[in-house]
Amino acid sequence: PLILVGTATCGRAAGALEILKVIKEELAKSGLEASVLEVGCMGHCYAEPLVTVYKPGFPPICYGYVTEGIAARLVQDFLGGDDPCLEFALAALEANDMVPAFTDFPRGMIEKNIILDKCGLIDPENIEHYIALGGYAALAGALGRDPGQVLEEIKASGLRGRGGAGFPTGRKWETCRLAPGEEKYVICNADEGDPGAFMDRAILESNPHQVLEGLAIAAYTVGARQGYFYIRAEYPLAVARVKKAIEQARQAGLLGTNILGSGFDFDVDVFQGSGAFVCGEETALIASMEGEPGLPRHRPPFPATAGLRGKPTVINNVKTLSYVPHIVERGARWLRETGTDGSPGTAVFALAGKVINTGLAEVPMGTTLREVVYDVGSGIPGGKAFKAVQIGGPSGGCLPESALDMPIDFDSLSQAGAMMGSGGMVILDEDDCMVEIARFFLDFTQKESCGKCTMCRLGTRQMLDILEAITRGQGKPGDIELLLELAEDVKAGSLCGLGKTAPNPVLSTIRYFRDEYEAHIKERR
Ligand code: SF4
Repeated sequence: PLILVGTATCGRAAGALEILKVIKEELAKSGLEASVLEVGCMGHCYAEPLVTVYKPGFPPICYGYVTEGIAARLVQDFLGGDDPCLEFALAALEANDMVPAFTDFPRGMIEKNIILDKCGLIDPENIEHYIALGGYAALAGALGRDPGQVLEEIKASGLRGRGGAGFPTGRKWETCRLAPGEEKYVICNADEGDPGAFMDRAILESNPHQVLEGLAIAAYTVGARQGYFYIRAEYPLAVARVKKAIEQARQAGLLGTNILGSGFDFDVDVFQGSGAFVCGEETALIASMEGEPGLPRHRPPFPATAGLRGKPTVINNVKTLSYVPHIVERGARWLRETGTDGSPGTAVFALAGKVINTGLAEVPMGTTLREVVYDVGSGIPGGKAFKAVQIGGPSGGCLPESALDMPIDFDSLSQAGAMMGSGGMVILDEDDCMVEIARFFLDFTQKESCGKCTMCRLGTRQMLDILEAITRGQGKPGDIELLLELAEDVKAGSLCGLGKTAPNPVLSTIRYFRDEYEAHIKERR
């Protein structure tokens, strides 16, 4: 028998480490033999702690909402019993408190796991698990090809960066590859900081080797010999698992000198960011790594030609790099079989807020919001009505019910006044005030503004003052027009993406929920 316990941060927050302890104690007490493995996040965070039991003669059964009592019974009744295990599973299923077979979830018809495919199934701290499921074969294959061929494969796949802007990955790599200079760098941007977003953390905690392999292939392609993970220090488990993955890859000869006899030298270090949201911006990230205050810099030059220490540098998000091994192994055409023409592949979302199934969802680009919210997320708790979805974090926008049938891809979202962002999706119901939501997100970006640009520093402050007054019932006629005017000024007068996109939640809520602003102002005390 084999028992998998999800011990990513979502599992730990729900008590997974206590469950793990009970399972080990019960096994020791009963004298039963079973392998117990810690795995990462399967995406079903709403049902944590999750325990999957493989008992010979039975299908794998995944138990959700496991308590210490259920954990003890899993060992006594399921592993140790004659056949009470199935009865126990069915009884618990009737009580709606657990999930019997994760392969049979109806949401599986919508989801398509590419970069989440091994999450929750392998021990992230054991490189052999990753290798056993085909891991590092793509790196070995890439090293046997000319770097230019690998680049053409990435370009042909149409892969777009999953960190926010959706810039074509192949073009970024090409610029760096063609940039003069022997010394180049590749950096994995894991400075995830959007409220409600946890996709990158979950991937690093659940399958760090996939990201490391993608980073190594990027380095080989552009000609870098040194790479970095930039991970925010608030993600200690991700930091620990990535460090362990690097160490294991070194020992396996997959990092270091003359990797797999190819003559390619490459090594990786981890840099811990101190939690400033703006450091997710590439030039601020570089400044922070150089020991300077994490302030964005003027572009051009772009990092791909003059980045870390002035050298050509590719910076890619965790999810972007996660696709790379899959594309190199299966080909550009394979990625294009999923998603839309302009946005090939899948999108990974963190579902949070007023939705029944909070957690991760990987769906083909072009899937509708309705499918994500209702088929994957199981809808709104308590029978409440859906009101809006805040997509793309503080840089994104709020989309109303009329957008539910809109396909999700980079271009559709930006036409609707939102953006893909890094993948945070906060669902709002009929009880949420959209002016308050706009105030919340603007308050976040205002506090995270580095203060370098006047409009970002003071314009957002002025917008926030107006929003606070409106939510206090002290709004004035003309406030909406003033907000719209200020929003344009902030966008035009800001250096980096934080300021340029900070007004988006305000603009999108005025666009789709202007009546709520007007009602607040009309009801002025
Ligand atoms: Fe700093 Fe805002 Fe200017 Fe960006 S836009 S550099 S966060 S002040």
